Amino acid sequence: MGQPVTWVGRSLRSLGDKPVTVLDGVGPRKADALAEMGITSVLDLLTHYPRRYIDRSRQVAVVDLVVGQEAMVLGHVKRVSSRRTRNGKALVEVDLYDGSGYLRCSFFNQGWRAKQLAVGRQAVVFAKIELYRGRRQMTNPVVDLVGDRTGRIVPVYPQSDKAGLTSWELAGWVREARQRAGELAEPLDQRWLDQLGLMGRSQAFDEIHAPTTSDAASVARRRLAFDELLRLQVTLVMRKAALERDAVGIAHVVGPEAGLVGRWRARLPFSLTAAQVRAMVEITADLGRAHPMHRLLQGDVGAGKTVVALSTLLVAVQGGHQGALMAPTEVLADQHHLGLRDLLGQLSVPDPATLAGDRPVRVELLTSRIGAGERARLHASLRAGEIDILVGTHALLTEEVGFASLGVVVIDEQHRFGVEQRAALRAKGASSGGADPDVLVMTATPIPRTAAMTVFGDLDVTVLDELPPGRVPVVTEWAQGPLGEESAWNRVRAQVAAGYQAYVVCPLVEGSERVQARSVTEEYERLSVEELRGLHLGLLHGQMAGRDKEAVMGAFRRGELDVLVATTVIEVGVDVPGATVMVVEDADRFGMAQLHQLRGRVGRGLAPSWCYLLGEASSPEAEARLEALAASTDGFELAEVDLDLRGEGTILGTRQQGRSDLKLASLRRDKDLVGAARAVAFALVGEDPGLAGHPALADEVRLLIDDEEAEYLFKS
Ligand code: ADP
Ligand code: MG
Repeated sequence: MGQPVTWVGRSLRSLGDKPVTVLDGVGPRKADALAEMGITSVLDLLTHYPRRYIDRSRQVAVVDLVVGQEAMVLGHVKRVSSRRTRNGKALVEVDLYDGSGYLRCSFFNQGWRAKQLAVGRQAVVFAKIELYRGRRQMTNPVVDLVGDRTGRIVPVYPQSDKAGLTSWELAGWVREARQRAGELAEPLDQRWLDQLGLMGRSQAFDEIHAPTTSDAASVARRRLAFDELLRLQVTLVMRKAALERDAVGIAHVVGPEAGLVGRWRARLPFSLTAAQVRAMVEITADLGRAHPMHRLLQGDVGAGKTVVALSTLLVAVQGGHQGALMAPTEVLADQHHLGLRDLLGQLSVPDPATLAGDRPVRVELLTSRIGAGERARLHASLRAGEIDILVGTHALLTEEVGFASLGVVVIDEQHRFGVEQRAALRAKGASSGGADPDVLVMTATPIPRTAAMTVFGDLDVTVLDELPPGRVPVVTEWAQGPLGEESAWNRVRAQVAAGYQAYVVCPLVEGSERVQARSVTEEYERLSVEELRGLHLGLLHGQMAGRDKEAVMGAFRRGELDVLVATTVIEVGVDVPGATVMVVEDADRFGMAQLHQLRGRVGRGLAPSWCYLLGEASSPEAEARLEALAASTDGFELAEVDLDLRGEGTILGTRQQGRSDLKLASLRRDKDLVGAARAVAFALVGEDPGLAGHPALADEVRLLIDDEEAEYLFKS
């Protein structure tokens, strides 16, 4: 145990309880303006961090300005005029005086500058110096209103202009708030501060708002970003601990080699990859323990997750329990059902009720399309324990589905399932045998490690980071212009002639599913008479009836169709080894993860495969994305690039509670801090589960979660 921190100093909660109006300068009008920026409490104000800083030592005197160079000038507004140019644009001209000379700033189409830059105001302007009619001037400079302040490094606060507030007003209120709040509570033990080289909390708040040096500002930022990440990680780790604390699980029968799982593995037509073996060892260890598993299996497309899933399900079956596999769509459920049966072969389980003393492992499919009579029979067999593994969609969650003894649940493609659905499935186990089933969540969308720690922070994570041997990476070309497109269609025709198959993915179009369906149908018709005339084409989109979809997929699987023209319904999991070419039209419209998923539909056999991304890039970001895809087939590497290109907002989405608390921390820039925060959270919660010895931290965590969850997490 570390030294328990005595709770001295002001807590964040008490700052959150104080309205900004307690500050001298903040009357009702200013309070309204602050509220517009989302600032109502003193805590909001103190955590409204500067967007950047102006270092006054870098400013240039007007007399020293050099034409053609960028410069920062600080001066007072001496004269403002507004007029219209000959072609009707609003033009505001401001003369700034800095003691050494005058600088003219011209603003086009920014009429509001006249009000912002009233005579007497102090402003910093930043732009390239131009020469106009013999005078040096700036056009549309970046402007910061800093006020007449001392201090070398001046904070610039975000959004203040919009709310009609100035950076210096905010800085003034922050200064007052800091002075009156005095010493702040320190939630971290000294040993962590020392070990991680973190600045104390009080000092960090001082330095981030009014830095003494620019280094101090970044050290302060690091400390406060760490705090944000630590609160989040502590919440996640406590959630994980609470799940394990409360739940009664099943200690599955995991050995011996001669058991069902061992017999099955010995008969697989291929040898497992090292990553698959590692994953199975980790999972099996979890299964053997009496508390329920909550594990995420991350693996790139084609890494062989299905085998790992089946091995997990069979451990349940081996001990006389049942397994369930839940997929996000009917097409996928259907395919998993076929895939599992295929991988199982003639495996049998002991059954004293039969003459031979055993029977084949029984895998059944349950989707909403199964008729009432058949459904009732399935339900009865399931309750009687005659079905070993049930595969299905959400239909598995309906109330009338009851298991004799649900031991393991595998959920494919977590991204489409909510937390509540996971809970519902677990509850099925609880109702059948009294114990929670073990849960394995599989995702084929690689996400960077730091993001996984945050999004799936309440799960253990296993990564399949190796593809089965013999895979030839998909050759990816960004095929631009008519020549590029021609080469793509040539490849399709050539591969079909050689006995292989192809996918054509049609562009995403705005509008309803129906609009999308119409567009893909038109493209299908066009291709049948133009580029792909004479080939057997099939059409697949989301508006088709389930039966029709199944028929088309079946025909494609059996090789009766040469080319499947489809929307992104083929994105996830579809597995046809004979398909070796994919053409993605208007690739620019798809995201990185989606394109990578799509591409994963080819290259599933041993033959070389191609993926053609058609169309131009509409933005530099799209260009970088398409180039990255052409350059790499490693999903994890691409996920990192994507995180860099788009920021973490898109990865975290709205799913992550507590995300709104991440004001400074960035999963992208602060990778080391994410890892450090997670390690500290594990250590802290490990030695002090209810955080009784860390009251300040406990209080801050409670601020992030609702009362109900707080009660649950802090129960121990
Ligand atoms: P994903 O991780 O994308 O779900 P799958 O489980 O669908 O991948 O596996 C992709 C293909 O690779 C399947 O055809 C599967 O049978 C095959 N496969 C899985 N593991 C191995 C292995 N160790 N060696 C060879 N082929 C494998
Ligand atoms: Mg799969």
